[in-house]
Amino acid sequence: MNLIYLDNNATTKVAPEVLDAMLPYFKEEYANPSSIYEFAKKANHAVKEARGVIKDFLNAESEKEIIFTSCGSESANTAIRGVLNMNKNKRHIITTKVEHPCVLNLYQTLEKEGYKVDYIGVNANGELDLAQLEEAINYDTALVSVMYANNETGVIFPIEKISEIIKSKNKETKFFVDAVQVAGKIPIDVQAAGIDLLGISGHKFHAPKGVGALYVNSKTLITPLIIGGHQEKGKRAGTENVPYIAGLAKAAELAIDSLNYEMTEVKRLRDKLETGIIKTIFNSRLNTGVTNRVPNTTNIGFEYIEGELILLHLSDLGICASSGSACTSGSLEPSHVLRAMNVPFTAIHGSIRWSLSRYTKESEIDYVLKVLPEIINKITALSPYQDELANLKRLRG
Ligand code: PLP
Repeated sequence: MNLIYLDNNATTKVAPEVLDAMLPYFKEEYANPSSIYEFAKKANHAVKEARGVIKDFLNAESEKEIIFTSCGSESANTAIRGVLNMNKNKRHIITTKVEHPCVLNLYQTLEKEGYKVDYIGVNANGELDLAQLEEAINYDTALVSVMYANNETGVIFPIEKISEIIKSKNKETKFFVDAVQVAGKIPIDVQAAGIDLLGISGHKFHAPKGVGALYVNSKTLITPLIIGGHQEKGKRAGTENVPYIAGLAKAAELAIDSLNYEMTEVKRLRDKLETGIIKTIFNSRLNTGVTNRVPNTTNIGFEYIEGELILLHLSDLGICASSGSACTSGSLEPSHVLRAMNVPFTAIHGSIRWSLSRYTKESEIDYVLKVLPEIINKITALSPYQDELANLKRLRG
């Protein structure tokens, strides 16, 4: 059975070129990059070069603004705690209701520590309420924290516009962007977008799990989350993970080269999957159809049936998708993102996220479109909501 992997927002496969770029630093070039002898020069150089690549990837002004971390969660925790620690007199934070748990759970912890956190809502399409955001900013706001694109719906937030709103209301407020779901999918330009801090994670764009980066602009001061040695200019202690950092840089280079492909071909396949499902399955519902989405993601509800059951049937055929973020699948709680969008209860439990990559083949999309109607029919026939389904069929033809 062939694997059809359509869960690339959960994690991606390591690109072969990335693995090749990492191997020398496991084998021959294993020196600690901080050591002063000749043998450490190549490891040291690899980290330096990688910093330059990530600087270009994000269009940062200087290499000094890039900190290597272990993952997107660490990048977010470092940014958020780091900014708040440097601004102890300010106690107000603004974020959104649809952030990833690595951000939301930290804000819940911070609320217990005495911070006031405002959670901005989204409309039925998953778009942020900018008026609510603008109104919430005040003299005490230390930080605004908004994801670049949502991991479940792919909806892109207007980061540049949000930055303008923040700076027009309070010039001292810092802006952190969780860009984990956009790296490698759309261009990132931290300077043009007016971002103070931005986090990415390697395993979402074909680098391995266990490496990420945080951009902190030169005007923003943070305290380290991990305290110890002087690595990363004192902003993140711990011997640099040279092979993974080299892999992250290679993944970023490949991502730059394939951005155009992502935004045209991957998008075409995503759209083919999306329209194919909506056209052929009467109880399917596009949870958001906004055009401003990352090109690889769609989220579709199947009404009056359970998403987990759909995933199990797909899994029997080697097809991987997700019923929410990887962290929420496994629990029967509907996703906080779809709840914030007021997706009707008839569809929320049967919602599936499909996320493609540049490795997705057209034949794989064709196969899913071939087998899915029968899977949905089979499950729908067992639904206790037969009257409602009959009504829906009549309405939608
Ligand atoms: N932010 C977003 C939007 C994500 O989708 C994820 C992972 O799914 C993370 C942060 C966390 O990244 P990591 O798994 O590298 O900690």
